Amino acid sequence: MANPMLKFVNVPRITPEKRDAPDRTDDFGEIYREFAAERAAEQASRCSQCGVPYCQSHCPLHNDIPDWLRLTAEGRLREAYDLSQMTNTFPEICGRICPQDRLCEGNCVIEQSGHGTVTIGAVEKYITDTAFDEGWVQPIAPSVERAESVGIIGAGPGGLAAADMLRRAGVQVTVYDRYDRPGGLLSYGIPGFKLEKEVVERRNRQMAEGGVEFVTNCEVGRDVTFADIRAKHDAVIVATGVYKSRELGEEGADADGVVKAIDYLTASSKKYFGDDVPEFESGELNAEGKRVVVIGGGDTAMDCVRTAIRQGATSVKCLYRRDRANMPGSQREVMNAEEEGVEFVWLTAPGGFVTEQAVRNAELGQVSDAATVSGVRVLKMRLGEADATGRQRPEVIEGADYVEDADLVVKALGFEPEELPTLWDCPELEVTRWGTIRADFRTHETGLEGVYAVGDIVRGASLVVWAIRDGRECAEAILERFAAGSAAVAAE
Ligand SMILES: Cc1cc2nc3c(=O)[nH]c(=O)nc-3n(C[C@H](O)[C@H](O)[C@H](O)COP(=O)(O)OP(=O)(O)OC[C@H]3O[C@@H](n4cnc5c(N)ncnc54)[C@H](O)[C@@H]3O)c2cc1C
Ligand code: SF4
Repeated sequence: MANPMLKFVNVPRITPEKRDAPDRTDDFGEIYREFAAERAAEQASRCSQCGVPYCQSHCPLHNDIPDWLRLTAEGRLREAYDLSQMTNTFPEICGRICPQDRLCEGNCVIEQSGHGTVTIGAVEKYITDTAFDEGWVQPIAPSVERAESVGIIGAGPGGLAAADMLRRAGVQVTVYDRYDRPGGLLSYGIPGFKLEKEVVERRNRQMAEGGVEFVTNCEVGRDVTFADIRAKHDAVIVATGVYKSRELGEEGADADGVVKAIDYLTASSKKYFGDDVPEFESGELNAEGKRVVVIGGGDTAMDCVRTAIRQGATSVKCLYRRDRANMPGSQREVMNAEEEGVEFVWLTAPGGFVTEQAVRNAELGQVSDAATVSGVRVLKMRLGEADATGRQRPEVIEGADYVEDADLVVKALGFEPEELPTLWDCPELEVTRWGTIRADFRTHETGLEGVYAVGDIVRGASLVVWAIRDGRECAEAILERFAAGSAAVAAE
């Protein structure tokens, strides 16, 4: 049989079709369409099957990429799925939202030789979406039930990846979350145009049907104590993410109309789920008919600007204090945002907020008497000397500031951990100077015996794929511990 691979010389890189901007900004559906079977096989066949695959070593999960690309090229999709899901709990999610240009695809050898990277993420998504369509993805069915139980605090990708592996091994798993549905930022952060909610929901259903117990609307530290959770389970995993928004100190930063990115995106996601969202209906967290300014240059800011466009904002501007080349957000997302009508105002920072009183409220149909934002005082910046990290430091250009009119300002300046030892009345839970939980980098166990921590609460704001890796590694460590315990009992 002829070699189906190494077609990169003759077959050009083709990504899945992207919906046109006017079409896609009318809804929150994903912007990329699915590959057809032939196109997925064709694109997979471009892989050069390197002996040392750099894509694999730069994937945090060390996915067996060349092998599942080859199986896809050969039309052996069932096997490709079986292989893909052995290393990744949520391949269809990573295929959609990993920053592939910085991970697997960015290190593809044929990209280095100028032929354009294999579309690894799109093929990964295609394989598992097909598996769902074909009914190959079934609820977890452990071959034995174990007596041990694990309590997981936080139903984001870190907690869910651990839950999945533990449950497959027959462990009794309970996941507690303060939100009303599982998924963490997959449900209530990342917008539908990057990750449709049904993709997350079908995973949630698969886990619940496989015996993972979800206790939602349950905030540890408020509805139940951390001590109670520890007493109830043989091991506990803390997977609470980072939710304390970084703030601006400028005058007017707490005026009506100046909102936090996480509140804004959560309200939008809830609306998309079909929930009642009073803050959205009142206009407080709805950009419709407004001049919107988003402050920040990361992926959260990108999600906010693109959400505002879809809500019907009259204009959307993004202020970022460095230039395009130095922004932390993905260039792919900037391009998508620009196509959709977002204006980036590089080298600018907020220097304060202009507010007006009830007059403005009346105009916008709002009822608050509080000061309401009507503009952002914008400072112009230039890039100066490099700091200790090698990045050029932004400096204010004196006397160049101006006012940008705005009815809604979204602060997307990043997130920090909440103070869990205080909130949970557990000073022994050790944290780093950044407030993240200190945990062993391999087992993920904290200084408290039987308490583990994974995902953003350990790493700081990071990526879904890293949270999945942590969750999987942590589950393995817990299973080793349980196995060692059983062996010890058997030996007695
Ligand atoms: C707007 C936005 C866009 C992003 N886009 C991307 C992207 O495109 N690609 C990517 O890879 N990453 C992206 N990320 C980052 C990614 O979402 C996170 O790195 C990832 O979700 C972290 O997973 P986690 O499980 O650690 O935490 P989370 O997903 O944050 O989940 C934590 C869960 O813990 C719950 N919780 C917190 N405290 C308590 C408590 N006391 N009691 C009970 N439950 C609690 C929360 O309700 C939440 O459900 C984005 C992040 C944001 C904010
Ligand atoms: S999990 Fe992410 S980094 Fe790994 S192969 Fe998939 S898209 Fe690439």
